[in-house]
Order: sequence, then structure tokens, then C-alpha cells
Amino acid sequence: MQTPVHIFWFRRDLRFDDNYGLFRALSAGLPVVPVFIFDKEILDYLEDRDDRRLTFIHDTLTQLQGQLATRGSSLDIRYGKPLEVFAQLLSEYPVRAVFANHDYEPYAAARDGAVNALLLQQGASLITFKDQVIFEKDEVVKNDGLPYGVYTPYSKKWKLQLQPAHYQSFDSLGLMDNFYRQPERPVPALEAMGFTRHPDAFPGNVLNEAVVKLYHQQRDFPALPGTTQLGVHLRFGTVSIRRLVAQALQLNETFLGELIWREFFMQLLWHYPRLVHECHKREYEAIRWRNDEKEFEAWCEGRTGYPIVDAGMRELNATGFMHNRVRMVVASFLIKHLLIDWRLGEGYFARKLLDFDLSANNCNWQWVAGCGCDAAPYFRIFNPASQAKKFDGQDQYIKRWVPEYKTRDYVLPIVDHEFARKRCLAAYKEALQMK
Ligand code: FAD
Repeated sequence: MQTPVHIFWFRRDLRFDDNYGLFRALSAGLPVVPVFIFDKEILDYLEDRDDRRLTFIHDTLTQLQGQLATRGSSLDIRYGKPLEVFAQLLSEYPVRAVFANHDYEPYAAARDGAVNALLLQQGASLITFKDQVIFEKDEVVKNDGLPYGVYTPYSKKWKLQLQPAHYQSFDSLGLMDNFYRQPERPVPALEAMGFTRHPDAFPGNVLNEAVVKLYHQQRDFPALPGTTQLGVHLRFGTVSIRRLVAQALQLNETFLGELIWREFFMQLLWHYPRLVHECHKREYEAIRWRNDEKEFEAWCEGRTGYPIVDAGMRELNATGFMHNRVRMVVASFLIKHLLIDWRLGEGYFARKLLDFDLSANNCNWQWVAGCGCDAAPYFRIFNPASQAKKFDGQDQYIKRWVPEYKTRDYVLPIVDHEFARKRCLAAYKEALQMK
């Protein structure tokens, strides 16, 4: 009879350091088999063969594998549909329980429910913990128990509830000898799953304190290195939110506020899973979008003739990143100047962003479109020229990505600003039945 084991299932928490679910698994008294699944259900939807996120995950797993090898253990990495993989794992290991951290997206919740049902049939179970956020689901709600739909009171309550215990870290590194011992296994090649490596290097996961100290002054200027570029690390859990919040409390309140926006949007999606496909404010479904394919293509490729928009889209296509200020400008341009459904822009960002996160992406797109919770008012239409003047006054950012700007080679504007503004207001007013 083999010794029983626990499994720790890595998902959006690809780190050993201060990983709460892992800490609990390694403290639970049985050897822990660390497992990662390249989920076929998700990979089948990826359009780009050299998807950056996949390379990022692959690199991270390779590093984790190296660390485990020094402890005589190994990550068990599989490729397949989670239910089928678990059926296989249960036939190979005497599994008592599977530990993991909470994953809040609608797909993840359904997947975990199905895996738990399978485990229960075999006398095991899925035990999950909060790790990805400070406050989850319905931990910060209004006094009547209903979710907040407005950020400011949410963030006030969030700060009021915060105690040092919420951002205390957990020493999972000190328990590494409790992993199940087995010879090192190879990390499956990306090619074996139908993908190739992306050649880019990725931003590091160490918080640059100098950047954060000046965050409130510099974060809106895309030519400056004024933000942390930690998005991808928060997405895949290669940093701990508890450590980040502890640092933010010391360094910069505005930065802390952005981490709270992240949790605000996560709880919104958890409470309202219909947001994945629908406008939060249902009346916005009546907007008659133009959805012109050629204009959408020009936007995707950075050929609109609006330099700040084109710079942003070219930065996204070339690096997988776009500065937050510019994300707002390009999103507003697509939705309001071109009258293209926000869901098309959201989908393009989902395909290209290295830090793509369903809740942050969806809720920010809905925020710009005016149809989200606590959204920008519908009549707020960014003027791309004044945005560029205010936040990139010397054209430094624009010139970096649109070198032909101000030469004869630069394309003419795809649409006139004043004409587009009026057309947009008319379309919104018609849908919202305003005079
Ligand atoms: P920093 O400014 O250093 O902020 C630190 C962290 O705070 C970010 O990494 C992120 O986790 C969080 N954060 C900051 N701003 C926001 C915000 N407005 N909403 C939610 N979280 C925030 N962010 C994503 O993480 N994934 C997305 O898919 C995403 N899509 C977006 C789409 C649109 C149209 C817009 C306007 C914004 C989107 N954002 C998204 C929010 C924001 O632009 C990025 O989080 C930020 O630019 C990432 O860069 P950074 O790590 O340097 O951020």
C-alpha cells in the first residue's frame, strides 16, 4: 500500500513564497505532490501560436521545477482537460485531498465544482483558500449585505476593515521538505501542445520602490516608467498580494488604491457573472453599434491617424503591454469615435495583453463604454488630441511607437473628431432614450 498523499494544484499562484494554499497543504501532514495542468479547454481558445502568456507560464514552471529539483521533488505537469487529468492522477497516486487557492472567474468556479465532484466520488475532496486577494467575494459589502457597485465607498470599507493579519505572509518556503519525493520530470515542450516560444523577455516581479514613491505624480505619463508593470505577476500569482499591500501601505496611497480597484472589479464579476457577456446597465444593450470591420482592423493595427491611439495599439501589439492612460484613450476611441461594440475591443485586449485578467479587462471596458458599474458618464468622450497634449506633451511616447508621425507617410485621421463626437452622442441618446 503506497503512502497517501495530498496534491497541491497550482493555478493563478505560480510561486512557493507566501502562497497560502500551498502553506496549508505543506502543513497538513502528508507528502504533497505539486501539480500544474496546461488546460486544454483554455489553450484551445488561444489564437496566437506564440502567445506570450503561455511562454510566461512555461518559463515560470521551469524555474519552479529547478527549485523543486534541489529538494528531491518535482512538479507533475500535465496537458489536458482538468477532469480527465484528475481521473488519471487519482489512478496513479493515493490522493486524500487536493489543495488549491480560490479562483473566482465563472469558468474556474464551474471547473472546480466538477473536479470536486469527481474527487468526492473517490473519497477525496478539493480544499481551497483565499490567496489572490486581500478581501474576496462578499467580504466587503454594504451594511445591508449587498455588493458595492461604486468604488469610493467600497474602497473606504476595504481600508476600514484592513488589519495587519490580512497582509501577514506565510512561510511556505520553510516547509519545502514536505513535498513528495520523486525524480525530476521534464516540463512539457510548448511545441508538444501546438505552440512556440515568444522571444520577448518579461518584466521582473520585484516592486520598484522608487517608482511607487512617485506613483501619484508620474503614473499618467506613458513616456515615463511611472507604473510597476506587475500586472502579469498579479495575474499569474508570481507575486504575493499580501506582500504588495504591506509595501503599498508604507509607500503610496494612490498605488494602494489601484490594488483596491483590482479587488473591486474581481468582486463585481463574482457577484455578476453575466458581465462576461452583457452590459451591467442593461439599457446600453440598445446602442446601435456600427462595427465597421475595416475601421476595427485599422484600430487593431494602429492606423487610425490619431497618433496617441496608434501609439497605444502598436505598443500593445509589439510588447503585450499598454499604459493605463492610453488604454483608456484607445478604448474610448474605439467605442465612441468609431461606434464599435466594446466587446470587440475587450476581445482584442484579451488576446494580446500579457496582464490580461477577465475582471479588470471586462470592467474597465464597461467603465469606458459607460455601461459598467460606477462607469464614466456616457457623454464623456476623450479628445485624443487633448489627451496627447496633456499626457505626452513632447510627443515622446508617440514618437517611440509612431516614428512617421508628422511626416507625409502618416495616415490621415480615419474620422473627424467633432463629427464622431456628435454621432456618438446621438447614438447613445437614442439608446438611452434621452432628449
Ligand atoms: P500599475 O499602475 O503599477 O498598478 C499596479 C496593479 O494595480 C496593476 O498591475 C493591476 O493589477 C492593478 N490595477 C491598476 N489599475 C487598475 C485598474 N484600472 N483596474 C484594475 N486593476 C488595476 N488590468 C489588468 O490587470 N488586466 C487587464 O486585462 C486590464 N485591461 C484593461 C483594459 C482597459 C480598457 C483599461 C482602461 C484598463 C485595463 N486594466 C487591466 C487596468 C490597468 O490599465 C492595468 O492594470 C495597468 O495598466 C497594468 O500596468 P501596471 O502593472 O504597470 O499597473
